[in-house]
Amino acid sequence: MTKAFEPLKLIPAAEARRIMLETPAVGVETVALRDAGGRVLAQALAAPEDLPRAPRAVMDGYAVRAADVAAASAEAPAELGVVGVVPMGGVYSGTVGPGQAVGISTGGFLPDGADTVVMIEFTTEAGGRVHIGKAAPSQANVIQRGEDLAAGAPVLARGRRLRPQDLAALATFGVARVVVHRRPRIAVLSTGNELCDPEQAPGPGQVRDVNQYVLGSEVEAAGGAVTYGGVVPDDATALHDTIARLLPQHDGLILSGGSSVGVKDISGVVLAGLDPPGVLFHGIDIRPGKPTIFARVGDKPVLGMPGFPTSSMIVFDGFVRPMLWRMGGELGRDPWPCAARARLTGAYASPAGREDYVRVRLTPRDGELWADPLPGGSSSISNVIYADGLVRVDAARERIAGGDWVDVMLY
Ligand code: AMP
Ligand code: MG
Repeated sequence: MTKAFEPLKLIPAAEARRIMLETPAVGVETVALRDAGGRVLAQALAAPEDLPRAPRAVMDGYAVRAADVAAASAEAPAELGVVGVVPMGGVYSGTVGPGQAVGISTGGFLPDGADTVVMIEFTTEAGGRVHIGKAAPSQANVIQRGEDLAAGAPVLARGRRLRPQDLAALATFGVARVVVHRRPRIAVLSTGNELCDPEQAPGPGQVRDVNQYVLGSEVEAAGGAVTYGGVVPDDATALHDTIARLLPQHDGLILSGGSSVGVKDISGVVLAGLDPPGVLFHGIDIRPGKPTIFARVGDKPVLGMPGFPTSSMIVFDGFVRPMLWRMGGELGRDPWPCAARARLTGAYASPAGREDYVRVRLTPRDGELWADPLPGGSSSISNVIYADGLVRVDAARERIAGGDWVDVMLY
């Protein structure tokens, strides 16, 4: 049985976010290390052993006993016998005794007996002897066993999207096969009798389909794998059949258009006929983006996004992207990551009791960053294109004074 719902009975933004973030993560797969960058780690990594495994030189020079060079200076160099070198990819098999030195390169494992490395710059070698013109304390130019990462140290948390530098940990500890979350497979489709493809010249009353491309690109940027489901006319059977065809092969579906309650707005009706739990809300108390429908078929989210491109982009920013991160297994990611603080250039009036989103352009002036709200409502796309970021204004806030500081989520 599909849960009954009331179309466009607005729920608060926080409630909509809570419901959407309950969408569970998709399953895992194993990928080669070279394919792991940008993927979400599904198993925590703790250091399986000390790194480095043994003391190593961090400079080119000579491995010696610190006591032998304690009194060395440029005027009175210490003279030691060179008894060998540490080969790269091997170790010096002997022990460095008193009066002895062993050549060593950066990264070479420190031979037994030696406790310090003298930089090559302070040495001159001739005829099997080396003159050392500078004292070196014990353990100089040496990285100790476990100094970088001690065995057992937490290195990478589960649910972390792997950055290039994170692969250093996987590679160095020999994790050649990496368990990551699958990319959520999301089908995106547009609805509307008025829509034509971008390569077509719009006839009278037609507009080119924008949302499929914007939302598809957003899905990929959020770590998903997108299927372009095409344009579906305002026809309940056609929409129902398209959803029925796409949903089994995907983890979720995003459609746009027809999400309000007009005669041509069939998304609500079609989504209401989906399998349980079905529609969980229809309408969020936000601006823009109010006519947003969220349904779930089992674990799979089905979203009815507003038709206006700017509205659907903002609903994506505020609600869908964090849900996709969660579906992709990212645990700790801030759903609304603000990366800049700026001062608003002028006063801004926000609708009472409704969360709203202001597209702003950022300009540095007098050592501060200024956020200039861009003109145009949800029917314009220029404001999102010109914007550097988005300011979310809490439902309770009705006015921001010119000069007030705001948090900006950067595009
Ligand atoms: P709707 O939500 O279907 O009532 O559409 C609201 C407005 O957004 C209408 O002007 C539509 O033509 C426009 N619209 C809907 N879907 C798209 C789309 N995929 N690309 C561009 N504009 C759209
Ligand atoms: Mg429409």
